[in-house]
Amino acid sequence: MNIIFLGAPGAGKGTQAENAGEKLNIPQISTGAILREAISKKTAAGQKAKKYVDNGELVPDDEVICILKDRLSAPDCTRGFILDGFPRTSKQAKYLENSGIAVDLVIDIEVPDEKIIERLSGRRVCPACGASYHTIYNPSHRGMICGRCEAMLITREDDKPEVVLHRLETYHRRTEPLKEYYGKRGILETVIGQDDVAETTGLVFSIIDNFGARSECEQSPHTARANQ
Ligand code: AMP
Repeated sequence: MNIIFLGAPGAGKGTQAENAGEKLNIPQISTGAILREAISKKTAAGQKAKKYVDNGELVPDDEVICILKDRLSAPDCTRGFILDGFPRTSKQAKYLENSGIAVDLVIDIEVPDEKIIERLSGRRVCPACGASYHTIYNPSHRGMICGRCEAMLITREDDKPEVVLHRLETYHRRTEPLKEYYGKRGILETVIGQDDVAETTGLVFSIIDNFGARSECEQSPHTARANQ
């Protein structure tokens, strides 16, 4: 099963993509996380991407597509994958479609801009393992230390207020039209992001469970015929 999570930066798609990946036992692929790792390791791709990521701009399509293509060729993707932060432009969505990479379900997490700004200002991330927290809504039980790997939590460069506004504007202009793109294909489901992360997870899981039940029903006549 291949799932895409759509949503503004800070809508909670990373957390929900991770939860869904654990539930389905398939990898969660975050192009943002891959880019941040490349930047911290100062690889050629990372050095090219740094100025875009730091300024809250989209990395050029060809660079991101190349990174994603490489990741999807890994053996752990054969049973399915969750995409978190890709596609972000119509060119990226068309890349998936033209390459025959099936998208079964797109889950869009909706959160108003005011809430996004409040959320991102409180977001703290672990530079070592990538875990994400919020000072109010999802604090680490160890305060400013990562509850998973014990590294000191940091505020991302691109969570600074002026960069957040730019990222939101970019999201509305370049990524939001993908809702219509996937809506027309009949695979878009919308979740209203709740303040309580667990509540949003419940809504996301019920969409995934319903999709699974629907697919089984749709497959059963074929299975029956094949068995005749
Ligand atoms: P994220 O962690 O998903 O918020 O991504 C952080 C940053 O990485 C974004 O603000 C962009 O600069 C860059 N990025 C991540 N995914 C993409 C993508 N699919 N296309 C272009 N840039 C991306």
